Amino acid sequence: MIDGIRVYDVQEKGEQIFHYLEGELEEGKTVTGQIDWDKRFSRMQQHSGEHIVSGIVHARFGYDNVGFHLNDELCTLDLSGPLTKEELREVENAANEAVFANVPVQISYPSKEKLKTLDYRSKIEIDGQVRIVTIPGYDVCACCAPHVYFTGEIGLIKLVQSQNYKGGIRITMLCGRRALKDYQQKEESVKAIMGSLSAKEELIAEAVERVKEECTQLKRYVIGSETEDVRPYSKILKEQFDGRGGGKPVMVQGSVNGSEEAIRKVFE
Ligand SMILES: [Zn+2]
Repeated sequence: MIDGIRVYDVQEKGEQIFHYLEGELEEGKTVTGQIDWDKRFSRMQQHSGEHIVSGIVHARFGYDNVGFHLNDELCTLDLSGPLTKEELREVENAANEAVFANVPVQISYPSKEKLKTLDYRSKIEIDGQVRIVTIPGYDVCACCAPHVYFTGEIGLIKLVQSQNYKGGIRITMLCGRRALKDYQQKEESVKAIMGSLSAKEELIAEAVERVKEECTQLKRYVIGSETEDVRPYSKILKEQFDGRGGGKPVMVQGSVNGSEEAIRKVFE
């Protein structure tokens, strides 16, 4: 907010920062800006979590963080090499240990000489003063963004999705309140499925598989007629729909593999 008017976008152009407002400001007037703290804190949580995950991956696998996207819903990071499901779980566990340890996030401005001796992550070459963010035991990185003071403020770090991306991997992660919200949504889904299938939480995947199997078995057909020999229909279904079954001139039954629409056409 600037003087009570909502800022809907901010863009950096060269040395200048542009704030786009929903209303007009009086020219020449001194104004007061106000941070949307919930939004800022959420971004600090995601970004600080990203430092920890990237630092752990860098130390254990030697990969670099080559891309990072953060908005109000999504936070993704791109790593320069692949990780298996087990390795991702290992990284996630280690990242949460860093949260439980509640280590301080340290900011420093080393001299050029000191910087030469420092092993730190950096995406770009920086000409001026470098700001180093250190999470002791987990990450050392050149960065000028806002971070939390202690890792405990990040809350849960959850790696929710991953996909192969440009020879490496893109990870979608949630930290803090976003992770809590995701847990709550998933809990609601799980409880709804548990209710529908009368299954215990730890057995719902099995229960869904069972229902799927039952549905497949239910694709049976029965054709009957008092005036016509129905066996030719059974033959057509066998040929066109990988069908099974047979019977007498008055009634045939079996199973088929095909869409309702396609099967109906045979009888039209
Ligand atoms: Zn940072």
